[in-house]
Amino acid sequence: MDLIRVAVPFFLLAIAAELLWGWWVGRNTYRLNDSFSSLMLGILSQAQKFLRLGVGGVVYAWIGSSVGLDYWRVDAWTTWFVAFVLYDLCYYWLHRISHERQLLWAAHVAHHQSEEYNLSTALRQTSTGFLFGWIFYIPLFVLGIPPEVVVSVGAVNLIYQFWVHTRHVPELGWLEYVFITPSNHRVHHAQNDCYVDKNYGGVFIVWDRLFGTYQPELADTPCIYGIRGPLLSWSPLRALTHIYIDMLNDIRQAASWGERCQVLIAKTGWQPGSIPEAARRQKNDLSQFHVYDPAVASARRVYGGLQILGATPVAPLGPASGTERDSGVVNFYTAIVDRSRYCLVA
Ligand SMILES: [Zn+2]
Ligand SMILES: [Zn+2]
Repeated sequence: MDLIRVAVPFFLLAIAAELLWGWWVGRNTYRLNDSFSSLMLGILSQAQKFLRLGVGGVVYAWIGSSVGLDYWRVDAWTTWFVAFVLYDLCYYWLHRISHERQLLWAAHVAHHQSEEYNLSTALRQTSTGFLFGWIFYIPLFVLGIPPEVVVSVGAVNLIYQFWVHTRHVPELGWLEYVFITPSNHRVHHAQNDCYVDKNYGGVFIVWDRLFGTYQPELADTPCIYGIRGPLLSWSPLRALTHIYIDMLNDIRQAASWGERCQVLIAKTGWQPGSIPEAARRQKNDLSQFHVYDPAVASARRVYGGLQILGATPVAPLGPASGTERDSGVVNFYTAIVDRSRYCLVA
């Protein structure tokens, strides 16, 4: 069963409920243009299911069948609990490096471009995460955790992260010490100097407390949401590619091969010293920050709404192994491994 597909209708209901609640209490956190952009990126991200199986699935299968330790003989509850916790530790490092290194930031940035913060932001997901994301979960397969358990705890981890994308829930007392909450995840989405690169956990905030990346929300520093180099566009194609394009431009204009290679492994925001001043990217001046909110003509609003309505029912119907909807990639994948054990549904 694809848990994420099951959850999608509840996600949409929760978004409607948050919108109504915002109107009811006089604190609406939605803008139509921003929410349409986030929802469209969420729909597009479903396409990577096919690719993730193709890129990472084969490696996982090989590790599971030839390298993976075969002594995982504990009871089911222990297996699920250990897998759930270790998955979040892997997620922490994937997420942290996705912020700190620009090659991975190029994929993850899509989740952070919104200058609003609401439940629709949670669905704003990348479509290029399949490129490197799978590498960080290899330890789970080496440990011999069954693939179906890894996939299931991964789905629960992602579903958990949905509810924390709201401005309507305050700090939650002792929960702030253990779990990712709306308050500490608001910090993660903020671009204020004191909030940048903090709170990377998916379910547990304990990793951030352990590894020195924890930052609580401060009463005197309201979150300014979004990224320091603003997107200034509603184009999903631009949202998914703008950092890759920036990197290609830097590689093209760099004076040496050393600098060109460094672009690929450098910290986020790094640019070669040799490129012209005009090609240097500017960051937001937060003392004069305004959200990107151009007027959108009525006809385009209607078109945007119809596009979302038309695409939403189609998007959740990604590859579901064991059904008639199996894609060629899934068939290829399941053909090379024991189907009964490795029928991954991402
Ligand atoms: Zn992030
Ligand atoms: Zn988030």
